[in-house]
Amino acid sequence: MPAFTYDRTVDSNVRKILEKINIRGELKKNEPMSSHTTFKTGGPAEFFFIPRSLEDLKAILYFCKEYGVPYFILGGGANILVSDRGINGIVIDMRHFNRIGFRDTICYAESGASISRTAEQAGRKGFSGFEFIYAMPGTVGGAIWMNARCYGSSLSDILYSVDYLDENLSLKKLTRKMILETSGYKKSVFQTSNSIILKGEFLLKTGEKGEIADRMETYKKDRERKGHFLFPSAGSIFKNNREFGEPTGAIIDSLGLRGRSIGGAQIAPFHGNIIINTGTATSRNIRDLIEICKQEAKLKRGILLEREVQYVGTWQ
Ligand SMILES: Cc1cc2nc3c(=O)[nH]c(=O)nc-3n(C[C@H](O)[C@H](O)[C@H](O)COP(=O)(O)OP(=O)(O)OC[C@H]3O[C@@H](n4cnc5c(N)ncnc54)[C@H](O)[C@@H]3O)c2cc1C
Repeated sequence: MPAFTYDRTVDSNVRKILEKINIRGELKKNEPMSSHTTFKTGGPAEFFFIPRSLEDLKAILYFCKEYGVPYFILGGGANILVSDRGINGIVIDMRHFNRIGFRDTICYAESGASISRTAEQAGRKGFSGFEFIYAMPGTVGGAIWMNARCYGSSLSDILYSVDYLDENLSLKKLTRKMILETSGYKKSVFQTSNSIILKGEFLLKTGEKGEIADRMETYKKDRERKGHFLFPSAGSIFKNNREFGEPTGAIIDSLGLRGRSIGGAQIAPFHGNIIINTGTATSRNIRDLIEICKQEAKLKRGILLEREVQYVGTWQ
C-alpha cells in the first residue's frame, strides 16, 4: 500500500516524498503554464518537474503511479490550451532530452529537441526529407504524438522508429511497419496510450545543401507571410477534413467569424482557423471562441469540426 494517496490538501507530502526518491531534476511548485505555452495563457502547474536523465524520468513516473498522482508530459506547449485554473499533479518538461545525431542517412533526435532545430541540423548535413517541418514550433515528441503535418507531408512519412516508455515504464520500440499501420492524418498511436516518447529516428536522403536550405527558407517565409508568428497562438485550432470540400479556415470565414473577439482572444483577422492572444486573453476566452466556431459550423453548415488543439488541466 502506498504511504498516502494523492490529495490536493496534502500536496506538501508530494514534495517530501520527491525529496526522498533522489531525483536530480528541477522541481518547481505553482509554475505558471503561461510561460510554457505558445498561447501564453494557462494557470499554474501544481508541480513542474524537469528531469535531467532517464533515471530521473522513470523515478518521477514510478512515483506518480505509486501514489496516483496525475502527470502531463510537456513538449513545446505549441498545441495545448491549459486551463486558467491550472493543472493538478505534475507537469513533466522533457527539455533536457534534446540530443540530435546522425547515423548514415538516419537522423535520431530525443523527444525534447526542437523539431525545427532537428530539421535544420539535418539540412546542414546535406540530408533531405525534413525541410517541410522547418520553422514549425514544438518538440520532436510533440510532433510525433500529433503526427504533425504541413505542406502536404506528415511526420510519419519520414519517421523510421520511436523509442518510448510504455504504461508499465518498459522501454519499447515502434518500428517503421507499426508506424505505417497506425498513423493517419494528424493521428498517431501515442494519442490513445499513456506512453512517453523518448526518441525518434527519421529516414532521410542525401541532397544538395544549398537546395535544402532554400526549401527550408521558403517554408519559413511562407509561415511568416501567413502571420504565424505575429501573435501568440497554437497554429490551426481544428483539423482539416477532405470530406468538407474546403479548408476549415474557409468554413469559419463563411460563418462570418473571422476577426470575432472574446476578451483578449480573437479569431485571427488573417486566418479563420487560427485563434490569437492579442495580449490579455485567458484560456477561457480562447476556449469560448473555439466552442462558438464548433457550434456555428454544426448549426449553420452541418459540419462537425474536429479540434486539433488539446485541452489540458482542470476545466469546469
Ligand atoms: C505558429 C504555429 C504554427 C503551427 N503550425 C503547425 C503546422 O503547420 N502543422 C502542425 O501539425 N502543427 C502546427 N502547429 C502546432 C504545433 O506546432 C504542433 O502540433 C507540434 O507538433 C506540437 O508539439 P509540442 O512539442 O509543442 O507539443 P505540446 O503542445 O507540448 O504537446 C502536444 C501533445 O503531445 C504530447 N507530448 C509531447 N511530448 C511528448 C512526449 N515526449 N511523450 C508523450 N507525449 C508527448 C503532450 O502530452 C500533448 O498531449 C503550429 C503551432 C504554432 C504555434
